[in-house]
Amino acid sequence: MKSGKKKIVTGLIALAVSLAVLLGLQAVDRSLPAEAAPAAEAAAAGFQAGTYSASADGFGGPVTVALTVDGGGRITNVAITGDSETPTVGGAAIPTLADEVLAAQSGDVDVVSGATFTSNAVRAAAAAAYEQAKGAPVEEGPKPADGNRYIPGTYTGTSKGFGGDITVTVVLSENEIVKLTIDGSHETENIGSFAVDMLDDRILEAQTPNVDALTGATVSSGAIIRALKDALSQAGADLSAFPTVSDASGGIKTYESMQVDVVVIGAGGAGMTAAIKAKQAGKNVIVLEKMPYAGGNTTKATGGMNAAETHYQAEQGIEDSVEQFVADTIKAGHYINDEALVTMMAELSARAIDWLDSIGAPLPKVSFSGGATNKRIHAPADGSGVGAFLVTRFLNTMDELQIPVYYDTTATRLMTLDGAVVGVMAEGKTANYTIHAGAVVLATGGFGNNEDMIVHYRSDLLGTVTTSAPGITGDGILMAEAVGADLVDIEQIQLHPTVEQGTSMLITESVRGDGAILVNQNGKRFIDELQPRDVVSAGELEQPGSYAYIIFDQRLRDGLKAIEKYVSTGIVVQGETIEALAEQLDIDPATLAQTLSDWNRYVADQNDPEFGRTTGMEADLSVAPYYAIKIAPGIHHTMGGVHIDTDARVIDVNGDPIPGLYAAGEVTGGVHGGNRVGGNAVADIVVFGGVAGENAAAWCDALAAEPEMAPAA
Ligand code: ADP
Repeated sequence: MKSGKKKIVTGLIALAVSLAVLLGLQAVDRSLPAEAAPAAEAAAAGFQAGTYSASADGFGGPVTVALTVDGGGRITNVAITGDSETPTVGGAAIPTLADEVLAAQSGDVDVVSGATFTSNAVRAAAAAAYEQAKGAPVEEGPKPADGNRYIPGTYTGTSKGFGGDITVTVVLSENEIVKLTIDGSHETENIGSFAVDMLDDRILEAQTPNVDALTGATVSSGAIIRALKDALSQAGADLSAFPTVSDASGGIKTYESMQVDVVVIGAGGAGMTAAIKAKQAGKNVIVLEKMPYAGGNTTKATGGMNAAETHYQAEQGIEDSVEQFVADTIKAGHYINDEALVTMMAELSARAIDWLDSIGAPLPKVSFSGGATNKRIHAPADGSGVGAFLVTRFLNTMDELQIPVYYDTTATRLMTLDGAVVGVMAEGKTANYTIHAGAVVLATGGFGNNEDMIVHYRSDLLGTVTTSAPGITGDGILMAEAVGADLVDIEQIQLHPTVEQGTSMLITESVRGDGAILVNQNGKRFIDELQPRDVVSAGELEQPGSYAYIIFDQRLRDGLKAIEKYVSTGIVVQGETIEALAEQLDIDPATLAQTLSDWNRYVADQNDPEFGRTTGMEADLSVAPYYAIKIAPGIHHTMGGVHIDTDARVIDVNGDPIPGLYAAGEVTGGVHGGNRVGGNAVADIVVFGGVAGENAAAWCDALAAEPEMAPAA
């Protein structure tokens, strides 16, 4: 087996660099003004005047640096392209990095805060390009025999994915990729891991690395493709000779028509629960999912599920009540929740926990969580994230029950007859469908990833990043509106205060709960960090630049598994002392040191005279090294949506149910009111997903029993 260390691809200047500059893409070009030219470093090293380029992996793909160097070793021009970098983060850092390389006359420049991936790529590529100018030979790989594509053998390539390195191992014959193994065990379960599971078949079938990235998992897909190219180039492959195979370039679509009892739109937690319940009630069910994988925002839920009066609480001696659950939810929701829905959720929550037990998805670990009077949040025994845990088990159950999921298939329109919903139109990759159904369940999630819709309802949130999955674009709300559905609380959008802006990665509340503080760019605290999400978010937006840093120490890192993920993603800045950390963040070291020593004194006194914080003060921040993550508020949950009643029937603008149409989960409004309690999203999807599935099945029974209820054909 050969090692795949050749991460830096070298080559002479690419025309693409200047082209991208002309096009104004994520590219800059900086020249040294003659009068500002620093003295050349040394002619002794035998520099060859010319333009040299090299690339290295950035956040989303390769970053290329082209250096024009004169005979004295002086860098006179720097051009950097990184079209795959996030425009507002890595892309925005590129001009600064170009200026720095020119000023430093080398690749040894500072990392731009918040753009670590891009900065490191520029550093590596600039250093490699400069080496070439010194006459370093461009690495020439081995070549296959004439007419062959590869030197047969087994090769391994590596590249950085979302959660760490991804390794691709290929077995090659003279002209074929015979076997391909992808190891990406650090990728996010049920998101990046789907790329790891699905791209191998796509590549093997196409016999080219130039395949479409998996929608929604572009970082993982990009890393797999880069690692594969690395392995193939070790086998002497000419990477420029591979064709590009795009899913979108497929042939003519067929039109298919089908008849089912229940069609569920969306394979998130609510949709899968509804599908399983309807199937358990004996109905013929199908699920449509617009992404190539299931899970939606449900996969991202890390906490647990709130439920009251459960057998787990009883076994653990925890006292709680349905009434208290209702009261806590309505208080947190600023008293605008739909009380009937909240009561229904609380009353059915214990039964929902039993049902999860019955399908092999137990949530036995019960603890406290923000906004709950009693220990009420139920999580998996092994501490894993509740969302990914449930999605995996729901998928297994759907497999056992043989419920078909049509992936890559987007529902586009609800079909109606005489005011009743009688089916769905959907578009797949190879076919368009007309699906006639007794009942339709909308479980398409919220609209956190539809910027137009967000701005339409909340213009103040223009440009705010989102933690929502790519498929969460409000389709269900729009489809329901088109058939007369009423919307409730639609402008109620929850911001999460600790979202890393480059990766949209949510920094779990537990970091603050375990003792982290927030400081602004001036190195000062500005709020009780454990106030409700909306309050902390608003506090951050008032700070210079509308962002903050979350600061923690080694003790906190050691105690919280989630932090390793942030570290391997490259978003954590580290300093051996608090002053060293401050310097990296461009904060005055003395101020940050003072803030920290004040905080540690407050922890010792169990009294925060500045902001009155009372929780997350079990331990101070005094164990080096120290860490920081730059964060700002991100759109987290759209609490409003389609109006439903306690039977999960969709209500129209006149207050009447729309026959045949049910909805559950984030697509609906009313349960969470003006502020969602952590743990209530999962309660909502499991309870109301179940209610929707059961009632959709019952509606089909009613239609069968009394055909005159059916709309006239
Ligand atoms: P919930 O938490 O309410 O279950 P999720 O966000 O977990 O919602 O899941 C919603 C799912 O619906 C996602 O997987 C998303 O891709 C899917 N979806 C959204 N719009 C459509 C559509 N038009 N057709 C099919 N699936 C859709």
